[in-house]
Amino acid sequence: MSELRKFLFDGMPVRGMLVRLTDSWQEVLRRRSTQGTHPDHPPEVRRLLGEMTAAATLMQSNIKFNGALILQIFGDGPVKLAVVEVQPDLSFRATAKVVGDVPAGATLSQMVNVHNQGRCAVTLDPRDRLPGQQPYQGVISLWDDAGKPIEHFAQVLGHYMLQSEQLDTTLVLAANDQLAAGLLIQRLPVQGLGNISARSTQADEDEIGRNEDYARIAILAASLKEAELLELDGPTVLRRLFWEENRIEFEPLVGERAPRFACKCSRERVRRMIQGLGAEEARDIVREQGHIEVGCDFCGLAYRFDAIDTEQIFVDTAPGSSSIQ
Ligand SMILES: [Zn+2]
Repeated sequence: MSELRKFLFDGMPVRGMLVRLTDSWQEVLRRRSTQGTHPDHPPEVRRLLGEMTAAATLMQSNIKFNGALILQIFGDGPVKLAVVEVQPDLSFRATAKVVGDVPAGATLSQMVNVHNQGRCAVTLDPRDRLPGQQPYQGVISLWDDAGKPIEHFAQVLGHYMLQSEQLDTTLVLAANDQLAAGLLIQRLPVQGLGNISARSTQADEDEIGRNEDYARIAILAASLKEAELLELDGPTVLRRLFWEENRIEFEPLVGERAPRFACKCSRERVRRMIQGLGAEEARDIVREQGHIEVGCDFCGLAYRFDAIDTEQIFVDTAPGSSSIQ
């Protein structure tokens, strides 16, 4: 079952979150693997998309933004686009567009930054956006300060959090076909300290202490291996990493409140689309292909209408027809 755990370190300006997406992440892959117009992604892309999904759910619940958080990579390699959208209620969807072959074992830069033109973007699209108001977008480069291409997606986001929120953040991400998981540790802003000059010495000392607390916890977090994140359950991960620290855990978000997969596509929407084609064109497609198949671009699910389904659409909507349904 998917879950999100939030916690604080007692008396220290450090918070953390652990997300484990199981059924919800498997649903993303299941839809994609239903044969048809949208074939399965290669394993390297599935892993990247899983890491992005875990990261995006952590970011959304971290900033508590009243609107969609959209995490995108615009790649210049075989992966042209990878995108995850997370709503304030933590429902999410994810997809990627791959053109050509992804080499086996491809690194991040071999997938999305072959010519140094790849970039990552975080978009915050407010729910109550006024007409003409643009969503906020932050663009993150895919190379580090030394000009080297970044090979771990977690690093990309660490950069972003530091730039956009001025908050030190440590992220560990991992994904396979069963689980997309992530651990986020963040230093909270310290408010009101150092403002009163008479207390500045004390404040400086406090600040140093707080930096040390964060530094120690960040090192512990960064020691988490991908295999551990994938194989151990949530409480075990946290206990093993932080057994010496006083942690205050909030009630975990599970079930309905956990991050979960949701796409807006439906059979009814596709039905209306076929209706829009008109009876003649729809029947032509059925004659040529035996059925009409439409895949959702976002989640990859294929909707199939055979000859009888197709006739049904137009019988129901024929002028003057009286439906008994
Ligand atoms: Zn869909």
